[in-house]
Amino acid sequence: MNGDAMESHDLRKVGLKVTHPRMRILELLEQAKARHMTAEDIYRHLIQHGDEIGLATVYRVLTQFEAAGIVLKHNFEGGQAVYELDRGEHHDHMVDIDTGKVIEFSSEEIEQLQHKIAAEHGYEIEEHSLVLYVRKKRR
Ligand SMILES: [Zn+2]
Repeated sequence: MNGDAMESHDLRKVGLKVTHPRMRILELLEQAKARHMTAEDIYRHLIQHGDEIGLATVYRVLTQFEAAGIVLKHNFEGGQAVYELDRGEHHDHMVDIDTGKVIEFSSEEIEQLQHKIAAEHGYEIEEHSLVLYVRKKRR
């Protein structure tokens, strides 16, 4: 993760005091290979790295991060909520229904088509979320 991203997620800038749990959870979200993690994933990861931060604290910090606009929370069907750092780039998601794996994608074609469809109904899009629930093709 580069310095810019770190800076844009400066805790003080979003009005949060710097505490150990907040710093650790932010670092984890910035550095983890998996960009979408449940609160329990984060909790387990912290424990593995010797951080004694309780699950309730993890949930509380994630809720604060969400309110501060640092983190996006997704309630995909059939699973626990997953959290990701809000990097400011719009993307959509696919969820593997067998493994729970979350895959990001973005398609200019789909974006434009959605605007076109909304316009045909006399609307403009304020926001949208598109989730595809997928299963790996058998070969
Ligand atoms: Zn995502």
